[in-house]
Amino acid sequence: EKYVYDFAEGNKDMKDLLGGKGANLAEMTNLGLPVPAGFTITTEACQRYLARGTHVEGLGDEIDQHLAALERAMGRKLGDPADPLLVSVRSGAKFSMPGMMETVLNVGLNDDSVAGLSRQAGGNDRFAWDSYRRLIQMFGKTVCDVPGEEFEEALHQAKVAKGVKDDVQLDADDLRALVSAYKKVFAKHVGHDFPQDPRHQLDLAIEAVFRSWNADRAVLYRRQERIPADLGTAVNVVAMVFGNLGPDSGTGVAFTRDPATGESGIYGDYLQNAQGEDVVAGIRNTLPLADLEKIDKKSYDELLRIMATLEGHYHDLCDIEFTIERGKLWMLQTRVGKRTAAAAFTIAAQLVEEGVIDLDEAVTRVSGAQLAQLMFPRFDLSADPAPLTRGVGASPGAAFGEVVFTSAAAVARAGEGKNVILVRRETNPDDLPGMIAAQGILTSRGGKTSHAAVVARGMGKTCVCGADDIEVGRDRFTVRGQVVHEGDVISVDGTTGRVYLGEVPVRPSEVVQYFEGDLDPALANEPLVSAVHMLMTHADEKARLKVRTNADTGADAARARRFGAHGIGLCRTEHMFLGDRRELVERLILARTEAERNDALSALQPLQRADFLDIFREMNGLPVTVRLIDPPLHEFLPSLEDLAVQVAVAKARGEDSPRDERMLAAVRRMHEQNPMLGLRGVRLGLVIPGLFGMQVRAIAEAAVALAAEGGRPRPEIMVPLVGAVQELETVRAEAEKIIAEVVGDSGVEVLIGTMIEVPRAALTAGQIAEAAEFFSFGTNDLTQMGWGFSRDDVEGAFFWRYLELGIFGISPFESIDRDGVGRLVRIAAEEGRAARPGLKLGVCGEHGGDPESVHFFHEVGLDYVSCSPFRVPVARLEAGRAAI
Ligand code: PEP
Ligand code: MG
Repeated sequence: EKYVYDFAEGNKDMKDLLGGKGANLAEMTNLGLPVPAGFTITTEACQRYLARGTHVEGLGDEIDQHLAALERAMGRKLGDPADPLLVSVRSGAKFSMPGMMETVLNVGLNDDSVAGLSRQAGGNDRFAWDSYRRLIQMFGKTVCDVPGEEFEEALHQAKVAKGVKDDVQLDADDLRALVSAYKKVFAKHVGHDFPQDPRHQLDLAIEAVFRSWNADRAVLYRRQERIPADLGTAVNVVAMVFGNLGPDSGTGVAFTRDPATGESGIYGDYLQNAQGEDVVAGIRNTLPLADLEKIDKKSYDELLRIMATLEGHYHDLCDIEFTIERGKLWMLQTRVGKRTAAAAFTIAAQLVEEGVIDLDEAVTRVSGAQLAQLMFPRFDLSADPAPLTRGVGASPGAAFGEVVFTSAAAVARAGEGKNVILVRRETNPDDLPGMIAAQGILTSRGGKTSHAAVVARGMGKTCVCGADDIEVGRDRFTVRGQVVHEGDVISVDGTTGRVYLGEVPVRPSEVVQYFEGDLDPALANEPLVSAVHMLMTHADEKARLKVRTNADTGADAARARRFGAHGIGLCRTEHMFLGDRRELVERLILARTEAERNDALSALQPLQRADFLDIFREMNGLPVTVRLIDPPLHEFLPSLEDLAVQVAVAKARGEDSPRDERMLAAVRRMHEQNPMLGLRGVRLGLVIPGLFGMQVRAIAEAAVALAAEGGRPRPEIMVPLVGAVQELETVRAEAEKIIAEVVGDSGVEVLIGTMIEVPRAALTAGQIAEAAEFFSFGTNDLTQMGWGFSRDDVEGAFFWRYLELGIFGISPFESIDRDGVGRLVRIAAEEGRAARPGLKLGVCGEHGGDPESVHFFHEVGLDYVSCSPFRVPVARLEAGRAAI
């Protein structure tokens, strides 16, 4: 087994083994770029170490060999008192986990080599002692768990004693004294002196970096980002170069393009006479990278050349960390850089235009999730407001409103027509009414899987959580001394996690305007809009899956069509039974005789026909799947409690209310313990004579009417909640009769199919396909019944705990559970098609608009996905990506 790779032995594709940092250091080394010499200890070594909790056999020998090579390359020996080699020991996992794991710099310094370092630095004692005290501090904290505050306190005392404010005002003698103080702190906590043997320091530092894989914050971060827990980190041992040797030294970061907008140019920051940690700590203000040209033209020019080389090599935006040591440029890190959603689109399109990548590659570099972000309304930040605080962007969107601190206050104020933002330490299921009433939610605790985050995402509500520098009180919250009272207005950006005081203006997304076809002409050539246009066009060309929409009004159908929908995959007819039609539905339910029932149905029928005609017109030429009524009928009746009170009050007053009493009896009769498993879907159609027939007739008549206008209707009638082929056959026989009667020789063709949303239907799909011309997977109910999770109750109630425990990484109602519910889909697709070749297959549950799930449905071979109008572009993009 080989555990250690010299930088020259690796390459950028070895991230699994060498981690991202190690793989890219190797790549840069092999490109001939100026990388300090070093080697990488593999993630496998880390896995072994963590599994055994003790040193890994053979690793020490390998490190010896590579260290010897490193010493030869640098012409110095680790910790040599006369002329020491110092190394940094840096973590670097396969996936970037910024700041979550540990790094130790200046390994190799001790009481003897500190003098050698001073000589190397041209007799700079101050630098040498400062480097030594940094080593003890970092090593103490990281390797030996010494509380960091103790070192901070000693440093503070040194400054107080000297009467100065800044670290840089301490001279060599002060720092030498500080080293003594640090050593005392170290010995007190650790029980022995700070280790003087350089090789021993190195081993301990490496093991500490291994262990930092399991640090609390790293574990939490992985859970949030869904990074597997067993990957382990690689460890990079790199010859130290110093950016803090004087004004001709420094350190900086650079991007080959603007990671916020994607524009090409020179982006980055530089800090003279400093080490990397100083940049991160924000001790001094950095300079824009362009200023480096004036400070050190030679290094600047070389850096620009290297940036061009890296972009040319990686074919993508790179971000870079570098150090200049006395006029000599060193590359410390590069990687394909993180970027905003807008920049991802713009950069991908630019690279196509520059001939660097092709369109296929460009489409894979953007995602539906990024597109979705670009479709939310956004804050107009042109006035550059300073954020009040920042947390985790847990559910995207831009919301402003008055601060409230309780669910009840949220409901009350929202009831007065106010916009409110619910601010809580964390939320729990009792906060649900307030979360619904609020425009946005802000919490000081918890991450992307907290209750607040999960529920807010489920509701599509803006949410920032884990803003841990706010202190939430009863009627106010404070952020670093600033007090925000109940009723003050704040603005919450659920995409970036930023929170602003006051109302930040909101502007609509230009990407939505583009899809809507009402883009301000001035924006038509805007780089983002043209990039979206380019990539969406290509995704559509590549996609095999069609994208339909879930829509039950003409207006929604029209919008979805503008957004690129290829038809309607689910028209929920029950939505047409609400509002002022409720009364007709009540008449239907209360009917005592066949005549009364028929009256009610005949009154509903023309209304339904008009609804369908409206939708068929908007979708002229495209398929429209109309689902027969699905929910339990009592959903259309008043609530049992309300009605009971009403009747009781009337009785007490001695009034007679025969209609209410009849209604109450009906509601009692129809009351169910588990309505979602009760009289709904096809069961209603079988129990209430004429109900489905009325709908079928309305559909057929609307289609014939459109055909008479010269249109091309393509109706598909879908039966919900079927579990056995006999149910479908019964409905089908009646429907076929009616259709034949209405359609006559109009040329209209009506398909009849079923939803597959009961597990039994999936498992008997071969039989059901005999009676169905198409299947549409209702993955909402299939998930509900597959897992036994009540879809209306569980997400807010306990999913946060499931997510916390990692039982699943994402709610199975949000993204398809491939192994379980997905398997039911796969079985039904295969057995359905085996029984009826060419059987049309689609999905119309919420999963139809979820990027991950779209890829799954592509793999399983469905013909289309159907999702809400706003998700249509997201699904189109993912359908294209799935096919590439
Ligand atoms: C489903 O169950 O997935 C479905 C689309 O039907 P509904 O959500 O209306 O139950
Ligand atoms: Mg359903």
